[in-house]
Amino acid sequence: MATIGPAFRGRLVRPEDPSYDADRRVWNGSIDRSPALIAYCTGIADVIDAVRFAAAEGLPLAVRSGGHSFPGQSVCDGGIVVDLSPMRGIRVDPERRTARAQAGVLLGELDRETQAFGLEVPAGIVTHTGLAGLTLGGGIGWLMRKYGLTVDQLLSVDLVTADGSFLKAGEDENPDLFWGVRGGGGNFGIVTEFAYRLNPLGPVVLAGPVIWPMAQSPTVLRLYRDWITTVPDGLTTVVVHRTAPPLPYIPAELRGTPVVMVVCCWAGPVEEGQEVLRPLREAGPAAADLCVPKPPFTEFQAMFDPSFPHGRWYSFKSLDVDVLGDEVIDITAEHASRMVSPLTAFPIFHLGGAIARVGEDETAFTGRTAGHTFNINGTTQDAEGFEQERERARGLWSALAPHQTGVYANFLMEEGAERVEQAYGAEKYRRLRELKRRYDPGNLFRLNQNIPPA
Ligand SMILES: Cc1cc2nc3c(=O)[nH]c(=O)nc-3n(C[C@H](O)[C@H](O)[C@H](O)COP(=O)(O)OP(=O)(O)OC[C@H]3O[C@@H](n4cnc5c(N)ncnc54)[C@H](O)[C@@H]3O)c2cc1C
Repeated sequence: MATIGPAFRGRLVRPEDPSYDADRRVWNGSIDRSPALIAYCTGIADVIDAVRFAAAEGLPLAVRSGGHSFPGQSVCDGGIVVDLSPMRGIRVDPERRTARAQAGVLLGELDRETQAFGLEVPAGIVTHTGLAGLTLGGGIGWLMRKYGLTVDQLLSVDLVTADGSFLKAGEDENPDLFWGVRGGGGNFGIVTEFAYRLNPLGPVVLAGPVIWPMAQSPTVLRLYRDWITTVPDGLTTVVVHRTAPPLPYIPAELRGTPVVMVVCCWAGPVEEGQEVLRPLREAGPAAADLCVPKPPFTEFQAMFDPSFPHGRWYSFKSLDVDVLGDEVIDITAEHASRMVSPLTAFPIFHLGGAIARVGEDETAFTGRTAGHTFNINGTTQDAEGFEQERERARGLWSALAPHQTGVYANFLMEEGAERVEQAYGAEKYRRLRELKRRYDPGNLFRLNQNIPPA
């Protein structure tokens, strides 16, 4: 194979190198792919070289920032992995309330820098997730109902296109491209840097799980459904069904038992939050109430990190529903009780609030009026029991499918072109395909939730 030009500054890893096996790994341990070359880019010039090289050689090209793609689309067989992880620069401007972050930044790293000034970009619920992939798909998380999606904070992106050109996209510069990167994933180019607007936060938040035995799930979910129709946008909640993990913050008597948790994050004055939470707390005694003032937010933000570590085997099936109707609740509770692996933990995100205040056509992200996103998964330590847990997850998905209103593109596995179209809806998909034709007519960037050029 030919090689990238000698000026390339980053590390180049090939199959014969001793570190190759570690370097080709991604977060999902069930993914086992062998690229011909892993190119660690240190700057824009390296990205341009890598893109031109892949195009000239006709090599499959995968883009890796945080490596957290559920289906492992950031690594490929026989092609080149353009790895952005060395590009970790973050610059916060507290006066203008903006931040610039390079593509290799992880969520927790951005939180650390922004929280130094009491500021925040709303993003996901696990700190070791890559900011780039999460942002480009939309970005849902603890602060979304108050401040919106991660893409709703974007001011501009810097990007390298399929022909190796460097472009900026924002409201005033390449606005069509800016529309597309706010939800259309990595289809249009490799983003090297993001500029975000910042929001005030904490540093204290009222946050944490309220926990019940899983057997009470039908009652808890009905109560939860009614309660969330009354709560202000400052509260974001995620319901999780799982086996209580052996973590220090979980009471000893609950560890290893099946539970349902309503995990809360109130981004406002603590006393006000206590009032908002009161109906949930008064409705019935919880097995544990760990929703307390948390200084700082970054500590709460890391709460789920140990539940989704690198290297386990993960399989996902996702869908959105409008409301938690009785049938949805009963299906969820019944199937959750059939989970066998103690490592499976499946979240249901409550959307709405600021997300729904942005028009559906304003960004490529689709599903702003959805009520809830189900992130159903089957997780095992390794191959043992994986197939069975995956089938159980699929069983829940199939039972819920008649209630499906859409699906979040960042939560898809490799589920085929029709499913990607479903994620965007026919009209937006057509617009995205037109855009793809303009910026990547040869579909160089196709190892993703692919939008084929029109
Ligand atoms: C543990 C875990 C928790 C998660 N929690 C949330 C959550 O709370 N909210 C949420 O919204 N999502 C969440 N996700 C999903 C997450 O948004 C996607 O998996 C996302 O793709 C991860 O980004 P990454 O950079 O780590 O991924 P990578 O695997 O590096 O990249 C995934 C894809 O994104 C594209 N891409 C990545 N970097 C670039 C770039 N610089 N330029 C252009 N395209 C690029 C490529 O198409 C690539 O295939 C979670 C995922 C995991 C594994």
